Amino acid sequence: MDIENLPIRKINSLFSNKELKPSELYSKIFDNAANSEASLHAHLTLFEEENLKKAKESDGRYDNGTSKSLLDGIPIAIKDNINIKNYATTCSSKMLSNYTSPYDATVIKKLKESEALFTGKTNLDEFAMGSSTENSAFGLTKNPWDTDFVPGGSSGGSAASVGARSSVAALGSDTGGSIRQPASFCGLVGFKPTYGTVSRYGLIAFASSLDQIGPITKTVDDSRIIYSAISGEDPRDATSIVNNQVDIPSDKTAKIGVIKELMEDGISDEARNEVNKVIEILKSSGYQVKEISIPIIKLAISIYYLIAPAECSANLARFDGVRYGLRVDGKTSYEMMENTRAEGFGKEVKRRILLGTYALSAGYYDEYYGKALQARKEMIDEFTKAFDEVDYLISPTTPTQAFKAGEKTSNPLEMYMSDLCTIPANLAGLPAISIPTGITNENLPLGVQVMSRALSDHSLLNFSEIIEKEIQFNQQPKGWV
Ligand code: GLN
Repeated sequence: MDIENLPIRKINSLFSNKELKPSELYSKIFDNAANSEASLHAHLTLFEEENLKKAKESDGRYDNGTSKSLLDGIPIAIKDNINIKNYATTCSSKMLSNYTSPYDATVIKKLKESEALFTGKTNLDEFAMGSSTENSAFGLTKNPWDTDFVPGGSSGGSAASVGARSSVAALGSDTGGSIRQPASFCGLVGFKPTYGTVSRYGLIAFASSLDQIGPITKTVDDSRIIYSAISGEDPRDATSIVNNQVDIPSDKTAKIGVIKELMEDGISDEARNEVNKVIEILKSSGYQVKEISIPIIKLAISIYYLIAPAECSANLARFDGVRYGLRVDGKTSYEMMENTRAEGFGKEVKRRILLGTYALSAGYYDEYYGKALQARKEMIDEFTKAFDEVDYLISPTTPTQAFKAGEKTSNPLEMYMSDLCTIPANLAGLPAISIPTGITNENLPLGVQVMSRALSDHSLLNFSEIIEKEIQFNQQPKGWV
């Protein structure tokens, strides 16, 4: 039995029926990680011993019928911008290379209460800024389907880890697509929940009004299980909300919209074909599908690359050599700060800080940041109008399949384009999911994105599961287990 390929509910029933022990699964997953790590570099750290001990405690709970939850004994990888107490949290930055977290993020606290296990911390683009994991200060991660290609980013380590079966599931963070895009590039499900339904407390901030933690998993149901475990209002996150879910239909009475602007220029034939394939399946199952135009989507990247850098320039001001992480000495305190920031941050992070401080500066605020906020409001309004007409919006997750390592590093604008389809959901705070649907001619996976109105996460997951069942993707990269 390939236990690492099983979905969480099935693993849990094997545990409960005493056909499999959490410690056996943990050892198998850990062996997979050890085998693939040298080629993929999905993890920055692996936690073997302490979690094997925890897995044995989990064995005991299943033995005496006191297991805590569906996640009891399930090994989960954690993106290294999420704090786990007493472990390093580096954000793949030199700036935090010596930082040990004194506290647990709320999502970690919740996973610990569920008795989930942690396999390790995964690689990312520095401070989650990037689309390929090539911006990590600790080396790039490779795509488990083909190591010439990137796994996507910024949660590329989390996606590569689940792809290579070095964890059963992973947590990522998504500011402009960083869960969905790597999930699509690695043949996995990636779910960005409604903004505010999962606490950001303990997630090292990139752009606070956009950041959201969510799962990268093999199946939609696995994402549902993790989302259920990590969501909920948190007094420690001022933007967290009561997760009062709304029900929208997922059966044939649901109305589906295909986003016109995300099926046009800039989208590869292969990505468009995946969407068309899903539309055909839905139509033949009796769903109504129509085209929906959201014209402002064409401006999404421009809006995002003002708002995200503006927020990041403020969030990253705290890394000054005084409070956390790296300090590079200087003759005065100013020189120390300058030296620390010059040395601690990589090129892309510096680019964003410069862009952001410029957009926020007194003379340009109204012209850039102010305009971007207005356009963001317009985008929210256009989505609201669209959801008066349809229940779900479908588009490609990414304009293309994964690209080759090095292919876009010299052209940041081209790199930014790979978030064309994912950014709108962050700007509007909507739930959005990427579901794997097919394999391209170059034998790389591709996914389709579905969005729905805010707080309809569970309905979105139900609807996505219908697509997942019809598509029967069921494929995995070869050679890692
Ligand atoms: N790729 C986008 C960026 O570089 C999104 C990153 C993210 O979602 N964290 O900003």
